[in-house]
Amino acid sequence: MIKYMVIGDPISHSRSPGMQNAAFEACGLGSPYGRRHVTPEELPEFVKFARKELAGVNLTVPHKAAVIPLIDRVDPEAAAAGSVNTLVIENGKIFGTSTDGYGLEHALLANFHRPVRGAAFCFIGAGGAAHATAFHLAGCGARAIRLANRTIGKAEELADRLRQRNPELLVETAGIGDTEQLARWFADTDFLIQATSLGLRPDDPAPFPLELLHSGLPLSIFDTIYRETPLLKRAGELSLPCAGGMDMLIYQGAKSFEIWTGRPAPIEAMRRGFLEAQPC
Ligand code: NDP
Repeated sequence: MIKYMVIGDPISHSRSPGMQNAAFEACGLGSPYGRRHVTPEELPEFVKFARKELAGVNLTVPHKAAVIPLIDRVDPEAAAAGSVNTLVIENGKIFGTSTDGYGLEHALLANFHRPVRGAAFCFIGAGGAAHATAFHLAGCGARAIRLANRTIGKAEELADRLRQRNPELLVETAGIGDTEQLARWFADTDFLIQATSLGLRPDDPAPFPLELLHSGLPLSIFDTIYRETPLLKRAGELSLPCAGGMDMLIYQGAKSFEIWTGRPAPIEAMRRGFLEAQPC
């Protein structure tokens, strides 16, 4: 019986059902995880259904912020970030949290073996993914978070919220076209996080001029997108440490699984489930 599901608009591309059912099956818990296409207009009705019928939900675009006023309790970090990707439902009460930041933190550790505490981050993009993950990294003891975005106002809004919650943190903003500022930042960055949606389509350009990268830079590059993007290709050519978004997706799902079941997530089973999952 389906007791868990991922919802979004669109949703057919999601590999979460394959990945989560692989985890449930590895623990002898069957295949209780489904997917449902839910439009923004349908979200309130879906939440009523989930309250009665489900034990857990993952949310993806465009529901991560919209669900917050519809549920009973929200984790303070997720509330500050304005982004919830995991619902836990018990006795008709719904608790919301976000595992995206945990997913990014553990993907960085798994790929680069460098600590997050004390590190300087440069985010390209200031949308939902940047919001959820930047708050988590700040909470993990990041030294600096720099935000470059096409719409500078969105970067400034996120920066203000980060500064309010983390007065010690260095937070800076720039327009994505300010190449002089980006070049200065890259020379003092441990992790460059590509968090725009550019790269989702095969013919998308890079989000900033790739000439700004060179092999002497001290940074590790993480692209939240899990196909090879022009950024990852260039980073590989320059032998800069780099990784795509697959592990972020796996670790955010692993954390959701652990919250729901109270069991350690079988990471390798989830990785196999992710790789075998066919979008439908
Ligand atoms: P949002 O729609 O909230 O934000 C999109 C971001 O991309 C904004 O910063 C936006 O800038 C920027 N952007 C979009 N188009 C352009 C463009 N043509 N030029 C420059 N910047 C552009 O999306 P999310 O934050 O939710 O997702 C961002 C990415 O993160 C997606 O690619 C998604 O696949 C990935 N992701 C990966 C996860 C994983 O587990 N691997 C988890 C969650 C997300 P502006 O503000 O100016 O519009």
